Amino acid sequence: MRKKIIAGNWKMNKTPSEAVALINELKPLVANDEVDVVFCVPAIDLVPAIEAAKDTNISIGAENMYFEESGAYTGEIAPNMLTDIGVKYVIIGHSERREYFAETDETVNKKVLKAFEHGITPIICCGESLTQREQGITIDWIRQQIKIAFLNVTADQAKTAVIAYEPIWAIGTGKTATSDQAEEVCAAIRECIKEVYDEATAEAIRIQYGGSMNAGNAAELLAKPDIDGGLVGGASLKPDFGKIVNYNK
Ligand code: PEP
Repeated sequence: MRKKIIAGNWKMNKTPSEAVALINELKPLVANDEVDVVFCVPAIDLVPAIEAAKDTNISIGAENMYFEESGAYTGEIAPNMLTDIGVKYVIIGHSERREYFAETDETVNKKVLKAFEHGITPIICCGESLTQREQGITIDWIRQQIKIAFLNVTADQAKTAVIAYEPIWAIGTGKTATSDQAEEVCAAIRECIKEVYDEATAEAIRIQYGGSMNAGNAAELLAKPDIDGGLVGGASLKPDFGKIVNYNK
């Protein structure tokens, strides 16, 4: 049985002091040992967030990292900077990074490989645009994103990865995919992992849905057999996040 994983993506929100206040507010609300809980926060919030989340069930994740070890890459964050402070997860290839910061399937693959090399669990994002959905090419598009993201990743590494299926048209729009639409794509992703690796890897890997998940729709989405969690933007900044984490209570 795969353990559900609910991750918040704070995006470019909350100063360090606001981050500490929010974690202190949400701490009691997100207690649920049956679920892995991750707060992915802006880079400058990582250190105070880790301190604020000490001795709780909350793991802290980054929203991005670079694929080189160190050097002349002004403004970037190296993987060992994350591990040094205790970061356990990193979001890779969010659609906003692809759209505004020119990330490609190839840079996503480099970052995924680097995250594994450093023992950081990547939350690997994929998703189609509304046009692609209307053209009926969603599954082909997602399969290509997944195949490139996992190039040269071993089965043992892939088993520990988290994939976030996030239809771009559902992110921050209030327009959630129906649970059937989300399940169809998450099941196709699992099938793709099975083809690339094997049944055991496909059964182990965790696949989240992301896109306007909230306290009202989480339980239905998370009841689907291939949806193992959520990547949550807007609702992760509110007490609602506690209700999503406790969707099963
Ligand atoms: C996200 O940023 O990954 C996301 C799913 O955002 P929202 O929940 O606000 O749609």
